[in-house]
Amino acid sequence: MLDPKPEQPAAAHIVVIGGGLAGLAAAEALIDRQDDSPVRVTVLEPADHPGGVLGTVRHDGWLVERSADCFLAARPEGIALVERLGLRGEMVGVDPRVRRALVWHAGRAVPVPRGFRLLAPGHVSGILHSSLLSPAGRLRVLAERFVPRRTAGPEESLEAFAVRRLGREAFERLVQPLAAGIWTADPARLGTAAACAEFVAMERNCGSLWAGERARLRETAAGDATGARYGQFVSFLGGMQTLTDRLFEQLRSRGVVIRAARAERLARAGSGWQVAVATPDGGSDLLAADAVVVATRTPAAAVLMAGVDPDLAAELAGIAYAGSAIVSLGFARNEVAHPLDAAGLVVPRTAGRRALAVSFSSSKFPHRAPPGCVLVRVFLGGALDPTSLALDDGQLVDLAVAEAAVLIGATGRPRLVQVDRWAGAMPQYHVGHADRVTRIEAAIARHPRLALAGAAYRGVGIPQVIASGQAAARKITGEL
Ligand SMILES: Cc1cc2nc3c(=O)[nH]c(=O)nc-3n(C[C@H](O)[C@H](O)[C@H](O)COP(=O)(O)OP(=O)(O)OC[C@H]3O[C@@H](n4cnc5c(N)ncnc54)[C@H](O)[C@@H]3O)c2cc1C
Repeated sequence: MLDPKPEQPAAAHIVVIGGGLAGLAAAEALIDRQDDSPVRVTVLEPADHPGGVLGTVRHDGWLVERSADCFLAARPEGIALVERLGLRGEMVGVDPRVRRALVWHAGRAVPVPRGFRLLAPGHVSGILHSSLLSPAGRLRVLAERFVPRRTAGPEESLEAFAVRRLGREAFERLVQPLAAGIWTADPARLGTAAACAEFVAMERNCGSLWAGERARLRETAAGDATGARYGQFVSFLGGMQTLTDRLFEQLRSRGVVIRAARAERLARAGSGWQVAVATPDGGSDLLAADAVVVATRTPAAAVLMAGVDPDLAAELAGIAYAGSAIVSLGFARNEVAHPLDAAGLVVPRTAGRRALAVSFSSSKFPHRAPPGCVLVRVFLGGALDPTSLALDDGQLVDLAVAEAAVLIGATGRPRLVQVDRWAGAMPQYHVGHADRVTRIEAAIARHPRLALAGAAYRGVGIPQVIASGQAAARKITGEL
């Protein structure tokens, strides 16, 4: 007689709310970790296209990124995902000829001092020969190694930390514009513990940013093949949407259901959850889930969590967001006076201009503009200029064209224009954010089979967001 077939355990149903990169990364990690206990995964995403803010648009020879245009290769999560998706052959590094940034100073674009990385000076000669800083400002940066290490006290803002270590001039001319280019943030409110813990650790462990950066450079020279091959930042020949499109296709082929629906409420149902959803045709539905990953921005997560844990919902609602607009402009090469021989240009607030930065897209990556043309992206808005987002598209384009005329000598009407608005899209890691995230994680640990993921918590960069999705999947699979 044949042995009766061992009974298959019923697949646990896991609902991922939000189909941005964090939600998609969580879904991938959930199906990868199913081992003996099978799972069924549904991703709820109201937008037409999954991927959240990530998106690439093609127009007649132009390839325009809607938001992120590259990611850091040094952190493993991004590159590992690229490998799993079979996308290594499509990866492209920033052109080695333009691996430097410029800063607007005294009416012209000057290079960031050689070796200077956000807050850390890496080379004495880079500082000594920089035309960006006055002689007194250069000496002040060089004296950073003698500034006593701060060993106690409350968390500092980025501004307080940078001014204390490097002096006000280096803060205003260098750190502020570079930081605005990353976080679109107010540096007087941005907290060091969450936004730049690496540099705080350099001061704590090595005594100064100088010593910390020198040690890091020695270590990087010893390893990191990816960094050496592609440089620090990478993208794809077909743009960043390559990543989310391929991930989306792979999830679908492995049985993940991506449903066009918005989650409206979350409620405990036995040991699992009930998710109330609204569909684009105006319908509604109740979904039963054994576990839920909430991978939306925190204002939406707070609404979902309100009936589950009001204190946690209040913590989530307390995370601020800033918005920005990107106006992509395409010109004929001979209509732009600047050689565009860098990755881009950042603009200090003290310069009194409206643009935060101009990214030289067609200098960084191939196939971004038709032959004989160049593509730049002008960043407007940010935490320090929320009024820009109130402008209509025509006004935004006029403003961006006027800024491009001054900053890079662009003349004439652009041949390509694309406006992308990102209201409330960038979480702001204000002073106290790291403590808030610790409280949020403690609170969510008290709710079995529920996890949070996304850019709001432990890093806004693409590798960190992937890592947050994976961490959420680990929490869930450990609790099923
Ligand atoms: C303009 C801009 C430029 C950037 N540039 C870079 C860069 O160059 N390099 C880099 O590394 N990073 C960059 N970033 C950061 C990075 O792209 C983001 O941090 C990351 O993509 C965020 O992913 P996410 O999944 O956390 O959030 P999101 O992309 O915001 O996704 C959240 C998803 O949740 C969905 N959602 C919301 N409410 C609900 C609901 N009730 N039910 C179901 N779904 C819901 C939304 O529709 C959305 O798809 C940039 C970000 C922006 C905004």
